[in-house]
Amino acid sequence: MKTLNNFKKLNNPPAYKFEEVSCYLCGESENEFLLKGEEDLTGKEGEFQYVTCNSCGLAYQYPRIHVDQIKDFYDSEYIAHRKKKDWGILTPLYERAMSKHDRDKDKLISDFVNLNSDSKVLDVGCAVGTFLLHLKDKYNCKISGVDFKEDLSFPRFNEIDFHCGLFYDQKDLKANSFDLITMWHFLEHCYNPEKSLKKAHELVSEDGRVIIEVPRLDSKSYKIFKNKWPGVQAPQHTVLFDKKRFIKMSEQAGFEVEHYLPYGAFPAYFYLFAGSYFKLFGKGLNLDKIIFPYFLGQALLFPFLLFEKKLNLAMQTIVLRKK
Ligand SMILES: [Zn+2]
Repeated sequence: MKTLNNFKKLNNPPAYKFEEVSCYLCGESENEFLLKGEEDLTGKEGEFQYVTCNSCGLAYQYPRIHVDQIKDFYDSEYIAHRKKKDWGILTPLYERAMSKHDRDKDKLISDFVNLNSDSKVLDVGCAVGTFLLHLKDKYNCKISGVDFKEDLSFPRFNEIDFHCGLFYDQKDLKANSFDLITMWHFLEHCYNPEKSLKKAHELVSEDGRVIIEVPRLDSKSYKIFKNKWPGVQAPQHTVLFDKKRFIKMSEQAGFEVEHYLPYGAFPAYFYLFAGSYFKLFGKGLNLDKIIFPYFLGQALLFPFLLFEKKLNLAMQTIVLRKK
């Protein structure tokens, strides 16, 4: 009841519906207030509570926004942060940054898997599928993707074996068939991360790997920005993983942790920039206005960012195989 009292103090439009949820890791329902998050990225209305489980320490959104309403938060404004757009003279720089992200994902996975024309790759939360198409072009591998929204208009989207809907509900994907399953910033959005991990366990082949990147709660950028940390991303993020609970949940789903990395393919710089912006100017990141300072800051911080992999700035990645 203590947390429900906290919840009443939150300021939300009457139309928002919330639901009870127990801890995703241990099932316990007792918890303590951690922080109040907002939709800082697009600036939408609402205050969302995150708690820490009294039993296992997992941080999660509680109560969480109803699953029927979460879709409204993945609208064109939110998706715009991931899509190609006309930025005038900065367009080439932006496009390079976007394709660099796919190249960085490729670089990260290639330390752990050798893809070739026989390989089958599944990207969970694949969005418009640019990462999969990058892999297809480079390795000629077979590519499948899952997301709850599809964008058939996107160039070459038809080349992806695409499955629309919730990952753990998919019936057409063959068990033990994928050499690589990737989840780039998917699991922290999931309404049932344990079920998603078990689904990945079912689908990956005996020698295959599952590679998952999520924001890291016990990172330096969280310590700096707290409730303005871009990794909160309320209400889309249902779980905020630290290293210990990220590993524990993966193991609970039947995986062996082969490698743990205190970084990801997603640039930690984005969290440093966006966190500073939210602290200084409040919510609502207008991409048109920030794109120049964004690239300028990145250039200035370049020497520091060279050590990103050693600094535990914002991200974490785990490489899993079947036990
Ligand atoms: Zn728990």
